[in-house]
Amino acid sequence: MAVQLHHHIGGREVPGTGPHGDVFDPATGQVAAQVPLGGAAEVAAAVDAAAAAFPGWAATTPLQRARVLFRLRGLIERDADALARTIVAEHGKTLSDARGEVTRGLEVVEFACGIPHLLKGEYSAEVGRGVDSWSERAPLGVVAGITPFNFPAMVPLWMAPVALACGNTFVLKPSEKVPSAALRLAGLLREAGLPEGAFNVVHGGREAVDALLDEPRVQAVSFVGSTAVARHVYERGSQAGKRVQALGGAKNHAVVLPDADIGVAADALLGAGYGSAGERCMAISVAVCVGQATADALVEALAPKVRALRIGPGLEDPDMGPLVDAAHRARVRACIDRGVAEGARLVVDGRTHPRTQGEGFFLGASLFDHVTPEMALWREEIFGPVLCVVRVEDFESALALVDAHAYGNGAAVFTRSGGAAREFSRRVQAGMVGINVPIPVPMAFHCFGGWKRSLFGPLHMHGPDGVRFFTRLKTMTARWPEGAGAAEFAMPTMR
Ligand code: NAD
Repeated sequence: MAVQLHHHIGGREVPGTGPHGDVFDPATGQVAAQVPLGGAAEVAAAVDAAAAAFPGWAATTPLQRARVLFRLRGLIERDADALARTIVAEHGKTLSDARGEVTRGLEVVEFACGIPHLLKGEYSAEVGRGVDSWSERAPLGVVAGITPFNFPAMVPLWMAPVALACGNTFVLKPSEKVPSAALRLAGLLREAGLPEGAFNVVHGGREAVDALLDEPRVQAVSFVGSTAVARHVYERGSQAGKRVQALGGAKNHAVVLPDADIGVAADALLGAGYGSAGERCMAISVAVCVGQATADALVEALAPKVRALRIGPGLEDPDMGPLVDAAHRARVRACIDRGVAEGARLVVDGRTHPRTQGEGFFLGASLFDHVTPEMALWREEIFGPVLCVVRVEDFESALALVDAHAYGNGAAVFTRSGGAAREFSRRVQAGMVGINVPIPVPMAFHCFGGWKRSLFGPLHMHGPDGVRFFTRLKTMTARWPEGAGAAEFAMPTMR
């Protein structure tokens, strides 16, 4: 019997009344749960609850809010294993990968525990004679988060702890493919002492998203997902007068220079290309090799390792689990078919892996060589266990190739030369750059975000930008005059 999931509204489980969707266990292909697909009515109920909770929550002191987050921190640590297993059950990633995801989410909670310090404003004494000026950051009100399937706990935790710490109340619309981790987080937030209604979960797909975008009481929307939907969310949300940050898709390149340690680069690319079955927005999907000898050596080092990757159910903690669902596996497989038709050389063919024959949504790891910029294989995000090698003649061509791509989430360079690394990191058109680090995901106290079609909106996720996104600035100017003043009709200037 599939588990029936609920919305979480006003601190209570609210059953869905409309249509439901299937949630699969990707390791078996079986339906594990049924998720209600909410719409305008459920969104309105969640926003009602969040709006009712806002005045009380906003009136708490930053220190009181930090204490709730400190308790949440302990509870996530207590339940980390259960949370990781929930992620594996619906996403399919390996248990150690899911534990890593929980840790990265926990780090944002730890960052948000510093909210009394983060909300400190600026102060200038004597901006004029007897006049002082200072700034404060105020919460926005009800804010919303819309999250993708690939990080069921971490991406909601990129947003909610910072938003709540700033004094907002929150409505989360998690991916309908992986709804249970969000419900666990809602339970932990309640246990941590967050007031009823301050954090709500509405399940669903496009209908729920559009209802959030159109709901006038939602002040800001933080989105992570594919570029097509990110653009839609950004445009529709902005048109409705909301503050929006919308993180989109990616195609991250790793440039391997001739002086790189090929063994180090191959191992790094193996993890970055195939970890989480390539379903990471910071996965490396293109290795750009400078020089034919570099490419030959890298492909020679990588191919046997790619063939030897252990693939199996996430709970057995192999190197790689299944893809999230049958439709996504079919799409990735079609990308591989098309790459072959386009003329790229398929060095390792994941389509023939024995695991693809049985139950579950497994697909072996694929490695392409001689990929060129004319191919869809290079242009489009595949979001699966497929690594493409592109061969270029020199450093400038490598940089030009990375910069020609529509996406600009992350980029990495492998080299022993400090000068080349510096040149690359300064010039490359990407939001996050790794130097001999394949997946340069910034820590919680820095900001996460890409450039170009990987991010719509000016502010990145978590870190100082997270606080900026979830607050608005107010700047005060004050004097305490003694005696009567005189009216002034010219533009005021300080004397
Ligand atoms: P998705 O865009 O299909 O879904 C994301 C969210 O939008 C989900 O909550 C979903 O229910 C909703 N949604 C889906 N279609 C919609 C529509 N037509 N209108 C309104 N809402 C809709 O993304 P996904 O498949 O869940 O996640 C994978 C994508 O997310 C990849 O492109 C990946 O690169 C991207 N991603 C980006 C980052 C980043 O930081 N830039 C991080 C993680 C994932």
